[in-house]
Amino acid sequence: MHFTQKDYQKQIDERVVTLEQLKQFIDITDDTKAAFTKLRKLFKWGTTPYYASLMDKEDTACPVRLQTLPSVWEAQDCTPCASSDPLMETENSPVENIVQVYNDRVAFCISDACASFCRFCFRKYYFNKKKSARETFDKGLEYIRSNKEIRDVLLTGGDPFLLDDETLETVLRRLREIKHVQIIRIGTRLLCTLPQRFNAKIAGMLEKYHPIYINVQFNHPKEITNEVRIAASTLLKAGIPLQNQSVLLKGINDSVKVMKHLVEKLLSVRIIPYYVFQCQLVAGTTHFRVKIEDGIDIMRRLRGITTGFAIPQYVLDTPYGKVPLSYNRFVTRKGDYVLLETYKNKIWHEFNPLG
Ligand code: SF4
Repeated sequence: MHFTQKDYQKQIDERVVTLEQLKQFIDITDDTKAAFTKLRKLFKWGTTPYYASLMDKEDTACPVRLQTLPSVWEAQDCTPCASSDPLMETENSPVENIVQVYNDRVAFCISDACASFCRFCFRKYYFNKKKSARETFDKGLEYIRSNKEIRDVLLTGGDPFLLDDETLETVLRRLREIKHVQIIRIGTRLLCTLPQRFNAKIAGMLEKYHPIYINVQFNHPKEITNEVRIAASTLLKAGIPLQNQSVLLKGINDSVKVMKHLVEKLLSVRIIPYYVFQCQLVAGTTHFRVKIEDGIDIMRRLRGITTGFAIPQYVLDTPYGKVPLSYNRFVTRKGDYVLLETYKNKIWHEFNPLG
């Protein structure tokens, strides 16, 4: 089975953007009503009928609801160093819509639309820009063309897959005309919130511009459905590797049990768990943030209880690049041996002479 353009268009035409529409899917609490009124101007709200259909009708702790619906906690955030742009992307932006932290890579924001807005988004500042992403395509492409060390371009936004096929293809074609661009990555949340977008037509178009990689975002096993399996399979048939980047979120995936279920379900639809990001210090997101020590402990406890390559790398993104948040299994050195802690908490002595 494949999705058609009609399936996708229906999701767009019937997007859920009002409380009235949301009522068709869930019982709305007084707190949610209050949050909608209070936060309307702070950050956009909206989702797809498909993603709304994954919400539990009554359970306010449903992980899909928590990620999508405004919460009164957002207005009560008083974390001292929270900001609207914690990664200082505005400062790391040599031209509009390009963010550059590494010499050989750039993030190129080509869309300012999302199908479903995530309450913990680290790029909230971006949606208040005056110029649309499309208006600045040319400058971004020119910057990439004139900087020969850039070999890897990440198309992001917003969501690049909310551009129409022709516009997205124009960007890909123009990038492929630049000889020093070796790989193109596309970051998208649509495989999770609007899998109907990935029909055979768009997969066929992407296939012409290989090597293409797609980074997706799933944060809870509930998000991995039969629709996701169909869409992932369409992209994989076109030879596009799919890698998942989760955000560690309190009450959503901050336990070994949920994380294990998530990574194993990802593998069952052939998506590789790649990163788990520490939630950024974005204003209004304190209620989502997990202590880094707790995050490290979850990742440590995953080792040995699931497939090795199911375990993503836990990282903190900073304005100066990503920092791996790793646990240390190296205990000490004793003469010609190093002592290492195994997942069974047994200490292994590995012969490893100094000389
Ligand atoms: S889909 Fe990405 S850019 Fe859009 S709101 Fe969610 S995290 Fe932010």
